[in-house]
Amino acid sequence: MATVGNLASSLWEAFRPYNRPILGRCVLCLELISTDALCGQCLADLPWRAEPRVRGFRVGHPCYASLRYEFPVRRLIANAKYNNNVGLASLLGDLMSRNLPPLDWSAVCICPMPQSLRRHWARSYNQTWLMAEAIGSHTKSLVNPDLLVKRKHTAAQKGLRRQRRQTNLVGAFEAPSSVEGLRIVLVDDVITTGATFAAAAGCLARRGAREVVCLAAAAVL
Ligand SMILES: [Zn+2]
Repeated sequence: MATVGNLASSLWEAFRPYNRPILGRCVLCLELISTDALCGQCLADLPWRAEPRVRGFRVGHPCYASLRYEFPVRRLIANAKYNNNVGLASLLGDLMSRNLPPLDWSAVCICPMPQSLRRHWARSYNQTWLMAEAIGSHTKSLVNPDLLVKRKHTAAQKGLRRQRRQTNLVGAFEAPSSVEGLRIVLVDDVITTGATFAAAAGCLARRGAREVVCLAAAAVL
């Protein structure tokens, strides 16, 4: 008769989470590789920002980005966002973790940029949650997607000028509970004009957050 230990071990073997295959292909050049999702060359060739601090956006809070928003990062972000490629969203979080701002990560709470319920139903996932989870697992920081919600469905920001984006976002975000005294790192995929970060970070600051830092995978500047 199987012992409890053997039974537990058999169950674990039967239901254990999917492990990465021993060999895979680099998502950019398709070279056969044994670890991660990018080969060493593609990883080194990404448009890394020398200085993660992004200046020039009127956000009212410090902004950081790990990469420049250009090829092939644009393609990675588009695929993570629009093509149900949840693996790429986690990969973006892993990449962001390689070029993080110098914060006390043990004292912060990571909040993914929320999307409206309507967009969530249409997309079935939020890529920024997956990015935040990946960063949280690297930094061992808390991740809390409930700090901020997007109550108002807004037209896609892509292609809109900053002023139109700001108008689009008036009253869009809400912090459902107190965030008094928290240091929050708000995570989004790309910073284009800063309007989304300004609206979301402003909402958290008005609800009492001690500090809000905006962190994007990529920035246009
Ligand atoms: Zn490659």
